[in-house]
Amino acid sequence: MKGLLGGKGANLAEMAHIGLPVPAGFTLTTEACLEYLKMGDTFVEQIWPQILTEIHSLEKTTGKTFGSGRVPLLVSVRSGAPVSMPGMMDTILNLGLNDQTLRSMIESTGEERFVLDCYRRFIQMFSNVAMNIESQKFELVLERIKQKSGVTFDHELEITQLSELIREYLDIYRRHTGEAFPQDPEDQLAMSIRAVFRSWNNPRARTYRKINRIEDSMGTAVNIVSMVYGNISDDSGTGVCFTRSPSDGEKKLYGEFLLNAQGEDVVAGIRTPDEIQSLQTKMPDIYEELLSHTRVLENHYQDMQDIEFTIERGKLFILQTRVGKRSAAAAVKIAVDMVNEGIIEKDTAVLRVTPEQVEMLLHDQFDPEGEYNIAATGLPASPGAGTGMVIFDPDEAVEESEKGKSVILVRPETTPDDVHGLYASSGVLTSRGGMTSHAAVVARGMGKPCVTGCDGIEIDLEGSRLIFPDRVLTRGELISINGSTGEVVIGEVPLVKAGLSEEVSLFLEWCDKFSALEVWANADTPEDADRARIFGARGIGLCRTEHMFMARDRLPVMQEMIISDKTEDRMEHLSRLQKMQKEDFKDIFRAFRNAPVIIRLLDPPLHEFLPDVRELKHDLEKLKDQGLTDSPEALKIRKTMEMTLALEETNPMLGFRGCRLGIVFPEIYEMQVRAIFDAVQELHREIDVKPYIMLPIVMLSEELTLLKARIQEIASLYSGADGDFRLNYRIGTMIELPRAAYIADTLAREADFFSFGTNDLTQTTMGLSRDDAEAKFLRKYVELGLLPTDPFNSIDLDGVGVIMEMAVRKGRSVKQDLSCGICGEHGGDPRSIAFCHQIGLDYVSCSPYRIPVARVAAAHAALNLQC
Ligand code: PEP
Ligand code: MG
Repeated sequence: MKGLLGGKGANLAEMAHIGLPVPAGFTLTTEACLEYLKMGDTFVEQIWPQILTEIHSLEKTTGKTFGSGRVPLLVSVRSGAPVSMPGMMDTILNLGLNDQTLRSMIESTGEERFVLDCYRRFIQMFSNVAMNIESQKFELVLERIKQKSGVTFDHELEITQLSELIREYLDIYRRHTGEAFPQDPEDQLAMSIRAVFRSWNNPRARTYRKINRIEDSMGTAVNIVSMVYGNISDDSGTGVCFTRSPSDGEKKLYGEFLLNAQGEDVVAGIRTPDEIQSLQTKMPDIYEELLSHTRVLENHYQDMQDIEFTIERGKLFILQTRVGKRSAAAAVKIAVDMVNEGIIEKDTAVLRVTPEQVEMLLHDQFDPEGEYNIAATGLPASPGAGTGMVIFDPDEAVEESEKGKSVILVRPETTPDDVHGLYASSGVLTSRGGMTSHAAVVARGMGKPCVTGCDGIEIDLEGSRLIFPDRVLTRGELISINGSTGEVVIGEVPLVKAGLSEEVSLFLEWCDKFSALEVWANADTPEDADRARIFGARGIGLCRTEHMFMARDRLPVMQEMIISDKTEDRMEHLSRLQKMQKEDFKDIFRAFRNAPVIIRLLDPPLHEFLPDVRELKHDLEKLKDQGLTDSPEALKIRKTMEMTLALEETNPMLGFRGCRLGIVFPEIYEMQVRAIFDAVQELHREIDVKPYIMLPIVMLSEELTLLKARIQEIASLYSGADGDFRLNYRIGTMIELPRAAYIADTLAREADFFSFGTNDLTQTTMGLSRDDAEAKFLRKYVELGLLPTDPFNSIDLDGVGVIMEMAVRKGRSVKQDLSCGICGEHGGDPRSIAFCHQIGLDYVSCSPYRIPVARVAAAHAALNLQC
């Protein structure tokens, strides 16, 4: 019932059912939150009698009284959304304390110090959550009093100091609200419930939801639970543990605890907590009991759990359990291990790892060959490595990253208010906090490297200085961090991309078993083709041949070919290019032996291969200065300039490119087709090559008919040319223009396959220049919510998507088994891949580094549709 009770509420109810020691409490539903957001305070008045009934039943269960009595009932008020939003929402503890209950608590517990400590925490949290008074105001007073009294930790404060603190806190409250701190626990409760409901819409919750694509319409539940105390005595404590390591997935209890402390002390990173294993020696019985509860919980939920517990005077309470956030590496390991342990099936395992997490596995690491000195070491809180300029302020981190700079955010610790800065950074370094601190949890979720608890450094926020034992860095200087080892290095360390581990490879093989879509690669060079093969591509969906002409040794030949005015000259340059292309094709065919390879004939306008006119003018001027105006060199520059100017277009993207070029200059396409067939022929005894020849920017079936006839004519020259050699090739078309999609049935009569060039199809459907729109105004459109995402990253489903669906339908109405795929950038985007699956494409083709991501997305698309 997560939707209604929120994650926390549903888990508390479930844990109570399976007999775990959970403190008594009740939950206000997400529906109540949504009603409140609509109706306002009158709604809380309406449901107030129900809330009181629940409070009374809590009083009965606990034997305590709310707002009075010898043993007063204190409660926590915590939000809990249907989807976990760690650290994003608000919590109030110790609610029910006032001047009167304070006295009776002191009498009944005999622990004046502890009760005063509860009260000061309550005043601060209530003031912050319910009345929006900045926590910083209270922290400053706390620091001042601690300094004055010469104590380091909060729990070392004496009764007199706590009393002084409380007086000052109450003063802050009065100054900011103009009223005295509310004494009636019912008022405290109503104000807190309203504030938690409202917190659903506070800016940091909104930012978190936006980043994580969580719906705004869910609302949050409010959990009201009787308090148990980890800070009441030395045999009390509190902790957080994971049933497996959230960092690398290892199967062992993993976590931290603090004796004589409250929950927030562990996660806030103020005191550095102890490793959970040391609880075994400190409180062996409790450790065993905890271990047994964690096993029950993991088996019950069949997933790794993140559990909060509190020990109150030697009695263990489980406060919360939820599916544990984990690093990408841990997600894969846990999914694979749980299948091997017989806990879950492979399809469940596949759905447990998101495409984005697999993307993170391709994160950078320090180059093992690189030389560097470790300046400090902290906790390896989130794997991967990052390098960038030291930035202390989250807003500045955003500014610098928008300028294209790589940033390492350096803070004593982070809070939910810093999330935007974390998001913009390449890594996070904190001097305080443990593996479950805010920085660690958030960085792991974002797949960013993070080092926490690095006590070898000192951070001087005011002076913008990062102080190492023997060096001081200022804002903007470079550091590198390794979140897998905890190392911090001054300066830049060269990084290498991570490869795929055996575990990930196995996981990806499972993904392939569930996918209907195959994943192919966009690869233009033998190196890209090799990489694509290693990442698991099943074919090449797009080899852009123009990239082969851009290489340093080829461009001059290409340029000579373009500017030559005699046919023999042109043919000679073409023949040189043909030889080069043939060798490239052979290498690519070898990398993809026996698999389909789609080679696209030349697409871009010819002027793209010619130098810039301004450069040519400049070169000409230079020659003129040297008195070489009529030299052969100057002549050639003039000719190149003339050709460049002749080929220049106002709208090259809609101009003389693609198959139009092949029709007007037949010799270029003929050369390419010969290079392909020569390569196939030379390899035919070695491998079975399946060349697919693809024509770009087709708008008329007549274009296809004409070019197909020319290709067939060339092909006919090869049959019987070399003993038993038979050319086994196909000719297909890209669908890149709306008109091509509208006449897809006619095109299908000529084409053996379709490949959606969604880069151009987006450009031509939406009338957006793919080279300009993103930088100029598309981002603004997305920010304003006019577009859900950038349509060049993720398919515009309502426009481009509809056109694609129609083209597949029309094409297959003529040729039932027409192979259809996609080779635009969208082929590596998980959301677009789900759509490609829905419309029945056969494959998606994307750049090599996105292949693992696409394999997971393809499996998810198939499995999610089955569900
Ligand atoms: C496309 O338009 O989607 C495509 C793959 O071709 P290019 O990006 O090379 O124009
Ligand atoms: Mg294109």
